[in-house]
Amino acid sequence: MTEEDTPCPLCEGTKNIYKRTLQYGSRLLACSTCSLQFVHPFPPLGKNFYDQDYYRSWGVDGNKLPDHVKQLKEANMNEHVKSIQKYFQSGSILEVGSAMGSFLKMACEKGFDVTGLDLSHQACELAQTEAPKAKVLQGTLETVDIEAESFDVIFLSDLVEHIIRPAHFWKELTKLLKNKGIFYITTPDPEHWSCYMAGNSWIHFKEEHLIFYPQNAIKWVCTRYGLTLVDFSHIKKYTNLCYIAAQAKQFGPKSLDKGFSSLNNLLYKKWTECLFPLPLGEARFVLLKADRD
Ligand SMILES: [Zn+2]
Repeated sequence: MTEEDTPCPLCEGTKNIYKRTLQYGSRLLACSTCSLQFVHPFPPLGKNFYDQDYYRSWGVDGNKLPDHVKQLKEANMNEHVKSIQKYFQSGSILEVGSAMGSFLKMACEKGFDVTGLDLSHQACELAQTEAPKAKVLQGTLETVDIEAESFDVIFLSDLVEHIIRPAHFWKELTKLLKNKGIFYITTPDPEHWSCYMAGNSWIHFKEEHLIFYPQNAIKWVCTRYGLTLVDFSHIKKYTNLCYIAAQAKQFGPKSLDKGFSSLNNLLYKKWTECLFPLPLGEARFVLLKADRD
């Protein structure tokens, strides 16, 4: 089997177009049937990207999120909660990949009934402390017991690009959504101008990002799983220099890491922690589940 006829993990189509070879050696292919872009080969099953080092890139030290990271995560999550309120003023929300609980906290504060699910025990403990009213579950969709049609909203922030079995993921998750409920998704858009500008250095070409959804791939998901695309927009993310420096240290080339470290050392601490919005190539998709007559 050549890579051009490797089965697509979303639609199982076997006709792919080569897009590029990424810096860490994998090749990026685009499926001709559903438009999903995926890395080939996938990393071996069991490779753990989400250990202490992953959270260190967030600036996590020991078991605590530094205040300046908390502040920026909460600012971003607050924007998402405000957007969700355009669809639901109250109700039940499931966040898959709830990490350190910033979204859970902001959604609880607005009165939503919130459930978080995450693989990492460390993250779950922290999330429960951040959002004591939320129900925090550790595990995967396969290992936890969630009743079908339980949620008005399923929130997936920076998650779907990590999923190794997307077909199974969408099928199982759609069952958990109530009729007239929504998926609220943020994910890197490989058709964003920042990807064309940066090429292989695009910030989202990281080893743990396995698949990318251009708008047409999301439309394919909608058709396959009985959903309707009701919003597509590019979003900006609040960030600060401290956080960028931590990310550069973890993922960037040495020169970039050095550059940001020196810049941070030169500036007043207060300035490096100032929040500013940046277009980083992420898209927001809102998908509505509605039973067909
Ligand atoms: Zn496909």
